[in-house]
Amino acid sequence: MKTYIAQHNPQKCRECGWCSEIVACPGADELICIGCGACVLACPT
Ligand code: SF4
Ligand code: SF4
Repeated sequence: MKTYIAQHNPQKCRECGWCSEIVACPGADELICIGCGACVLACPT
């Protein structure tokens, strides 16, 4: 299984909001990344 470590890149971000408003991040409550890759796949950049 492929895993990811999410890292926000402000220089590429278009501030579309998909990664925070549409994706249900499973680590958001604990402010951790478990590497599911959902926000990475959703990001257009
Ligand atoms: S999905 Fe990508 S481009 Fe959109 S707000 Fe998140 S990091 Fe920025
Ligand atoms: S959606 Fe998945 S890859 Fe993105 S920050 Fe949350 S746990 Fe990490």
